[in-house]
Amino acid sequence: MITLREEIPLAPLTTFGIGGAARFYAEVANTQELREALDFARHQGLPFFLMGGGSNLLVSDAGFPGVALRSTGRGLRREGAEVVVEAGVELTGLVRRCAEWGLAGVETLAGIPGLVGGAVRGNAGAYGGSLAEACASVRVLDAETLEERTLSGEECRFGYRDSRFKRNPILVVLETRLSLTPAPVGELRERVTATLAKRAARRLDCERSVGSYFTNPSVADRDLVARFESEQGVRAREGRLPAGWLIDQAGLRNLRVGGAQVSGVHANYLINTGGASARDVLELARLVKERVFDATGVRLVEEVSRLGFSAEELSD
Ligand SMILES: Cc1cc2nc3c(=O)[nH]c(=O)nc-3n(C[C@H](O)[C@H](O)[C@H](O)COP(=O)(O)OP(=O)(O)OC[C@H]3O[C@@H](n4cnc5c(N)ncnc54)[C@H](O)[C@@H]3O)c2cc1C
Repeated sequence: MITLREEIPLAPLTTFGIGGAARFYAEVANTQELREALDFARHQGLPFFLMGGGSNLLVSDAGFPGVALRSTGRGLRREGAEVVVEAGVELTGLVRRCAEWGLAGVETLAGIPGLVGGAVRGNAGAYGGSLAEACASVRVLDAETLEERTLSGEECRFGYRDSRFKRNPILVVLETRLSLTPAPVGELRERVTATLAKRAARRLDCERSVGSYFTNPSVADRDLVARFESEQGVRAREGRLPAGWLIDQAGLRNLRVGGAQVSGVHANYLINTGGASARDVLELARLVKERVFDATGVRLVEEVSRLGFSAEELSD
């Protein structure tokens, strides 16, 4: 039997530390508990929302008038060169375990906050790698039919920070099967340590943020892409320009609305300097989008998930 608690503040469950309470909240350790909670939501006529580590989530100041659920299933097992991992496992814990098992393929994900379910849904990635490359299949629960099914990696329709689950929140990620490559443990440990050191050097993990607030957009303007490439000395990956570079073109570092600020360290990080409201963050994001468009002609799109807002609040 699950325990549904009422009026649970969500801010402490997010890295932003912003937002109101959930009308109901429950931690679900397995599929049976998840079914019970979804059934409860349906009978009450309430929406549901699946939370992971809350590291890519902005909760509205008014909170969420539905049932917020958090996966806590932490199953993790090895089957030869494959690893089967439940949605509630911490991503970095998974990466470390794969290294200790001598299995390569997820080292570039070391240090990305959050849980495996959230990482699958957003196809989390860094340093040129993403979860999709290792993902052989995903087991999901359809929140409408309450039936389980397994989708192949191809059926997950992964793309840059994108997946079928992102487009269809009815599909709740239960676990994923990763297909990895045997490699020497010492080498993998070194790669994981190097990735964590690279991230630590950016001095960003201590900020209250959701990481990159906007995705890196595809840019059709060849002159802008050429300017980026000559200025930065790197090629634009898949025709995408870093949102942080575009925000810098508009000169927006340290721009502030209330307690929300564009980070002075990385312009695509919007940070809660203390006491920021969700409204501050939305207004800051709106200003950033407007000014980046004016300066570059590029429209930024949010990477962050936003919970409990009306369509009107989210329109620019
Ligand atoms: C300091 C910092 C650095 C970051 N760096 C990176 C980076 O380098 N690369 C990167 O990709 N991201 C990065 N992020 C963003 C974030 O860590 C990732 O997006 C992460 O994968 C989100 O996982 P989560 O468990 O915290 O998801 P949450 O924030 O809890 O949820 C995000 C979305 O996933 C959905 N979701 C969660 N669990 C499930 C599930 N089981 N089934 C279906 N949907 C689910 C939620 O409904 C929500 O829409 C960073 C964030 C921070 C704070």
